[in-house]
Amino acid sequence: MAITLPDLPYAKDALEPHISAKTLEFHHGKHHNAYVTNLNKLIDGTDLAGADLEGIIKKVAGDTAKAGVFNNAAQVWNHSFYWKCMKPGGGGRPSGALADKINSAFGSFDKFAEEFKTAAATQFGSGWAWLIDDGGKLAIMKTANADLPLAHGKKALLTIDVWEHAYYLDYQNRRPDYIGTFFEKLVNWDFVASNL
Ligand code: MN
Repeated sequence: MAITLPDLPYAKDALEPHISAKTLEFHHGKHHNAYVTNLNKLIDGTDLAGADLEGIIKKVAGDTAKAGVFNNAAQVWNHSFYWKCMKPGGGGRPSGALADKINSAFGSFDKFAEEFKTAAATQFGSGWAWLIDDGGKLAIMKTANADLPLAHGKKALLTIDVWEHAYYLDYQNRRPDYIGTFFEKLVNWDFVASNL
């Protein structure tokens, strides 16, 4: 069973003016799609061909001989997750159990926001910043290239893609502006809470 490219959970222009239709056209239609195509080519005819995406990632994580499979599989997972972390009219603040867990882990929502944004801004080169559930406690994590919490036994709750292809058309080199806008205008807190 081949791995397939999931549809975006909203129209290509739904995140404008914060993320343009042009960015999503390339990011989903070209980058994400290429990871799906490459992964299917790499696993075709191997013992990984019938496995689901998370099964593939767990099986090849840490195996340097399978780095190509890991990178493409992880990037398929990361992007599918990232799209769901945003919605038109997102941002604001979480409530309920998620808000309580954030307050208990970070002291306040503002401190959490600062830590998350700093992780995203300081990830050198390509990668991702995450809010994770680490054995019941929330924490911030950043990963390089395709790496993801699943490969480290941790559960992702929220992510931001800080590869340049995620923001360059709209923000050029201003990564902090993209991060601020993502956090204030786009985060889908209902999705984040559903991952708890
Ligand atoms: Mn990306």
